[in-house]
Amino acid sequence: MNELAAVGLVGAGPGDPDLLTVRAARLLAAADVVVHDALVGDGVLALVPPTAELIDVGKRPGRPVPQELISTLLVELARSGRRVVRLKGGDPYVFGRGGEEAQALIDAGVEFEVVPGITSAVAAPAAAGIPVTHRGVSAAVTVVTGHRRRGEPDVDWRSLAKVGGTVVVLMGVAQRGAIAAELIAGGLDPATPVAAVRSATTPDEVVARCRLDELAVAPIEAPAVIVIGAVAAMQLRADGEVQGRGVGQRSTNSQS
Ligand code: SAH
Repeated sequence: MNELAAVGLVGAGPGDPDLLTVRAARLLAAADVVVHDALVGDGVLALVPPTAELIDVGKRPGRPVPQELISTLLVELARSGRRVVRLKGGDPYVFGRGGEEAQALIDAGVEFEVVPGITSAVAAPAAAGIPVTHRGVSAAVTVVTGHRRRGEPDVDWRSLAKVGGTVVVLMGVAQRGAIAAELIAGGLDPATPVAAVRSATTPDEVVARCRLDELAVAPIEAPAVIVIGAVAAMQLRADGEVQGRGVGQRSTNSQS
């Protein structure tokens, strides 16, 4: 095992603790303090040693912890000589603001390492039996945020409609009606398949499927990943159920 840095910016994966990386589990086991987001589920937090301090900086609506405070906290904790794990849902560098924290640690001269995690952008579709690319069906995947932050460039949804392939939207539940309208205005077929996967890989997982022109009124709750494109009609499951366009054969795995 490589030497441990003062701070680990660690991806916790989509929810199921079995989807942590080995490195993430090692860093957690050695942590003195774990600073985590709201999206990190109980299953993963159960792996934090009882001797370690848990700090929840979850950015729930109405209780935001400013990013600067989180960065300052990481620097202070590291300087106190404790082993710090900054635990983020999915991958720290996919809409996780991990880059900002890395920059703050660099500026403060604090050693750190990044431990990539399995992003929900890929794991949530997979949980629903959807490959984000599939030969003959989708040759591209675009991962995009549906949430507009101040100071961030706008997403040009109409141009995205012309890229083809799969569009995977994170943080898009609230804006889903506007997103669908823009994609259709950009030329996407209103009948384009859509799947929304909520709380993927956790006991609360729910999958909803609809057409793009039904997305606005589809009953979807956050946190969900919205998959838009032909692959969203697919449902490759180990129980032998195979549906969807462009899928020529049934799964041979007939467990369960
Ligand atoms: N860094 C994270 C994304 C953080 S942004 C990652 O790589 O997965 C937060 C968004 O991620 C949520 O709004 C939701 O769109 C998505 N998300 C994270 N975990 C999820 C899960 N288990 N199921 C469904 N969506 C999830």
